[in-house]
Amino acid sequence: MKRFLNQGSLMLLIAVSLPAADTARLENRRLRVEVDRADAAVRLLDKETGEAWALGAPRLVMQDKSTATIRPSGKVTERGGTVRYRTEQGIEFQLQLLANPPSVEYSFDKAPPNVAEVLLVDKGLALGPGVNNYYALPVRMGILLYPEGEKPYTRRLANYAGYSMAMLGVVKNGSALLTTWSDPYTTIVVDYAVEPRKNLSLSLSLQKSARSVRFEPLGRGGYVEIAKAYRPVARQRGYLKTLAEKMKENPGVARFFGAANFKPFAFVRNVPNTRWNQTDKERLNINFTFEECADLAEHFARDLGIDRALLVLNGWINGGYDNRHPDVLPAAPEIGGDRGLMECSRRVHALGPGWVFGLHDNYQDFYRDAPSWNEDYIMKNPDGSLRQGGVWAGGQAYLICSRKSVELASRPQNVPRVKELFKPDLYFSDTIFASPLYECFDPKHPMTWVDDLHYKTQLCIYLRKEVGLFGSEEGREWGVAHSDYFEGLMSHKTRWQQQRPNDDIIVPLFEIVYGDAIPMYTHQSDRPRIDAPNYVLDHVLYAEMPVYDFGTHRYWTGTQQPQRQRGVDESRTVFARGDRFSDRRDQFIKNTYEVLSPLGRVTALLPMTDHRFLTPDRKVESTRFGTDVNITVNYGEADYATPRAVLPQYGFIVESPTLIAFYARSYRGLKYDDPALFVLRSMDDRPLVSSRKVRIYHGFGGNQVEFRGKVLKVDREQVISGAEQ
Ligand SMILES: [Zn+2]
Repeated sequence: MKRFLNQGSLMLLIAVSLPAADTARLENRRLRVEVDRADAAVRLLDKETGEAWALGAPRLVMQDKSTATIRPSGKVTERGGTVRYRTEQGIEFQLQLLANPPSVEYSFDKAPPNVAEVLLVDKGLALGPGVNNYYALPVRMGILLYPEGEKPYTRRLANYAGYSMAMLGVVKNGSALLTTWSDPYTTIVVDYAVEPRKNLSLSLSLQKSARSVRFEPLGRGGYVEIAKAYRPVARQRGYLKTLAEKMKENPGVARFFGAANFKPFAFVRNVPNTRWNQTDKERLNINFTFEECADLAEHFARDLGIDRALLVLNGWINGGYDNRHPDVLPAAPEIGGDRGLMECSRRVHALGPGWVFGLHDNYQDFYRDAPSWNEDYIMKNPDGSLRQGGVWAGGQAYLICSRKSVELASRPQNVPRVKELFKPDLYFSDTIFASPLYECFDPKHPMTWVDDLHYKTQLCIYLRKEVGLFGSEEGREWGVAHSDYFEGLMSHKTRWQQQRPNDDIIVPLFEIVYGDAIPMYTHQSDRPRIDAPNYVLDHVLYAEMPVYDFGTHRYWTGTQQPQRQRGVDESRTVFARGDRFSDRRDQFIKNTYEVLSPLGRVTALLPMTDHRFLTPDRKVESTRFGTDVNITVNYGEADYATPRAVLPQYGFIVESPTLIAFYARSYRGLKYDDPALFVLRSMDDRPLVSSRKVRIYHGFGGNQVEFRGKVLKVDREQVISGAEQ
């Protein structure tokens, strides 16, 4: 018996001492890192949840595409909170424990030139199926990938094109891990296998200047906690600058709060033999003269009561939309020329500070038929040839090297003269946050991705300084601090239901990190038809403002073709209901603006603090902004009941101290046979319960609404002032 016990004790001793001998270990209160001394495999333990994260061992991808496994060639040392080892290829790897927040920095020093990539994580962080197992990836707005589906796949997200933020999250058994990096030469590779079992795994490929990745275990949590944990990292990197902070430098930023985006495509020239114009003849399209652009703004301001908006002109430039850049002046003579545009600017400014007058321009594309065409400005391929961009209305574009873009934009005949003539409040310079980062091989202006990011930022800084307000296409985190709006990122949410095949689950990662730092619009090509209620719900849910659709010329006078929208699905025209306007597009704009603009103002300075899917089919979603703005939207066919409302399909409810808005079948016990749209809005910033001025807007449906314990009948709108209480 005694002998048996001794053997047992001995085995126990061995079991305890073996890992200590074979792994180097770093540990603090919150986490533990173990590095296998034999094969360099890394294991990370979240001590709060007990979850272990297997990062595996790094692997090298050589220039000839062969791969090499890493083995420590000498001692794996551990000193001063850092584990170090050197490989037989001569690369030193380090894992350093960081205290605040508790995390580990995993890095290596310079790799030899025959190494093309270092896979710091090589098919690690694996996940099997489970409701609390997923990757949260910064693809555009953000997506969740679960280990599910019948088809294996590999997804590479690279270079601030595949990802919008330099981070990702892994959730395993409800335990969350945040991974971040700072160099754009870091690529995320996700592999999904179905054999021998369903399994997601992740690799992080570091090239060129990329050297490190940070891992931060977050305890129990999901994608919301991951996005929130990234905010301080984003701030540290200079990417997060809130609107409240921007307002201190430029109070004009507040002109975006609740501002609808109207972008008339005034004049479009399609050169022949492109996918846009397959004929042999040039095609000109005049949708608005400059005079009609001003009429349009006045129509929205006076007839619809739109009191906060952007009017950003497309196709004002000399050759027509997307033609002959960068030679934009004089303004297109076909629609009124310089004098016409000056007068348009004057009339829009006369509408007051609620209306922002903007111009759409481009300092990334150069066209060969531009009078100032000069190859010196163009980005070069490794073989010295000119770097082609897309084929647009004006034909083949060539990409301007971003090291040269400020030089072009600041020529006397560009931004300085445009400013002088037309006094724009806002400049939109196309494609900056939509295109990937580029390398340029022109020996006169060579450029890495890191350089491109720097010089593109310089262009943003220049345009913003010159004009005041500035924005560009799509949206990336590195643009947040240096621009005033993004146009495109919201389309990730609005278009997902139409795009097939697309099983990505969209979540507002970007919105949680940066929602109180930059207004986000959809792409200019993504405008809601009157039968697009999902588009409206998406904007209610994320509290963002739309890019509206409207007719051409003076469409509202009824002299033009009334509806260019053919094949309208009447079952989906809910938000175009009402009798204020004969043109249903105007009715749609009015109803949705009355909801979205006040919501945009209430939430502008508040971060999104929560997001949830409320039903297993993910057809009902809720968000929260700050502590007390709560929003629920119902995309599904079935009714959904919240504590105070019943939401039909396309129903929503916004509840906050100063704003209540809903499209509901019932609210506060008041039932609507015909579901109603109401907005109750405090006009003096006091809570609705004590406000001395409350505006009630009734869009359509039942006309009764409960307010301060009374049932009011509101046909269109009513202002309740203190005296009536
Ligand atoms: Zn260059």
